[in-house]
Amino acid sequence: MSVTTNVATPLITADADSLRHADEVIQSIKLPGQGIAVQDPATAETIAHVPDADVEAALEAVGKADAAGADWSSSTLRQRADVLHAWYNKLVAHTEDLAHLISREMGKPLAEARGEVKYGTDFVRWYAEEAVRPAGNFRETPDGGASLLTRRSPVGLAVLITPWNFPLAMATRKIAPALAAGCPVVIKPATLTPLTTYFAVQLAIEAGVPEELIQVITTSKSGAFSEAVLLDPRVRKVSFTGSTPVGRQLLKLASQNVLRSSMELGGNAPLIVFNDADLQRAVDGTFAAKLRNGGQSCIGANRIYVQDGIADDFVSALTERFAQVAVGSGLGKQTALGALIDDRAVAQMQAYTENAVSLGATLLTGGHGYDSPGNFFAPTVLDRVTEDSDVAQSEIFGPIAAIQRFSSETEVINRANATEFGLAGYVFTENLDRALNVADRLQTGIVGINQGVPSNAAAPFGGIKQSGLGREGSAEGLEEYENIRFYNVARR
Ligand code: NAD
Repeated sequence: MSVTTNVATPLITADADSLRHADEVIQSIKLPGQGIAVQDPATAETIAHVPDADVEAALEAVGKADAAGADWSSSTLRQRADVLHAWYNKLVAHTEDLAHLISREMGKPLAEARGEVKYGTDFVRWYAEEAVRPAGNFRETPDGGASLLTRRSPVGLAVLITPWNFPLAMATRKIAPALAAGCPVVIKPATLTPLTTYFAVQLAIEAGVPEELIQVITTSKSGAFSEAVLLDPRVRKVSFTGSTPVGRQLLKLASQNVLRSSMELGGNAPLIVFNDADLQRAVDGTFAAKLRNGGQSCIGANRIYVQDGIADDFVSALTERFAQVAVGSGLGKQTALGALIDDRAVAQMQAYTENAVSLGATLLTGGHGYDSPGNFFAPTVLDRVTEDSDVAQSEIFGPIAAIQRFSSETEVINRANATEFGLAGYVFTENLDRALNVADRLQTGIVGINQGVPSNAAAPFGGIKQSGLGREGSAEGLEEYENIRFYNVARR
């Protein structure tokens, strides 16, 4: 599909100092080999090469992590907490380095990359604190005669598979609870954005994490990796963030050895604006829920439902905001929307737009790519999208606000729930009863009420229905890496 380009609006180019900063960080990463090219999505330029591990190397990594895990699993809770605190401090001290690196390899604007560093490091701090508070339990059997002591122990070697959209946060959200629980780790970051994981793990080792406890594996042969590693008897846990189809494949493999499995999968988030919403709050929240990370977020607002009475005002205010967004390199000083991850994403946005318009939607702003080597697509607002259009049925993963109208609360809840996904939903209303009633009826694991960015390290992030299994963040996120056991102690 050809992409309509816009040559009239110039893209913002990278700031020379920021570019230099990012490249200095890349130079400082000790990469154990060279095989896969990593590209800057804003320029299509190759910025590094990372190893392309074969199955043998992956199994060797499993062996090393397993060996390092023996000491770690018997370390004291305070020792684990101290190491995690040291890693947290190290990451925070390198905030600017990490932000520049994330922006260079993933494309998001520097300000957002700094936000990701804050969010990503919060998981390390949270689990440093949580590590020393294992929730053991003690009960009496109801019929007497015995006491029950429940204890937690590390689940064992954890294989962590992460996507490209939040290169730091997706890694720390998994590594930190695994280490806090006492588990060794093999992490496979996305080959599109592997550098942040290598750098963050390098900082972990500098901070005192035992050298072989976290193994990083990059490979272009994801399928072969999973088939070998998830069937290895030394592995006890898999945690994956990515698409639902890949999640299903991994669950099948995990069933072989009955691995503990956490799956953070795709979403198709409804965002609902009622007539009684505060207009400004609703526009700000929708803007954030849609355009954060260039729309490349699993909890990004996918189907925006606006009630008839507020719809015209909402649509014109949102369109005005979208039309003002400065697009360009994430390392550009004024950039508010960076490059998409690859050229397929750009072509996909164009196809979504054309399909929606052909089914009756109105294109209000954007709807085009740019005549540039990078992967850019303009912030786009489509009004009166029909429920059968691709943009309403699929996870958009890009900067398109797809607006539909509705009249009643019951109608919108039914439409919002008519999807196999159940990750996030959003409700905008000033009526507390309505907010809570609608939130209760939305079939999602996460609900943002009058706000567009609900994630937090203290929150149990995760989906229901086909959006996944398990939770990340909070105390629940630690349990994903723990076995719960009980001792039944006979009493006289
Ligand atoms: P993807 O499923 O294609 O890939 C995710 C990761 O898995 C990548 O590193 C990829 O290389 C790897 N992978 C692919 N096939 C594999 C296999 N057979 N074995 C092992 N690894 C394999 O997803 P993506 O396109 O990179 O990311 C976007 C998707 O991720 C979206 O659906 C989005 O909703 C989802 N996502 C979910 C969350 C969440 O927390 N629920 C967060 C971010 C992204």
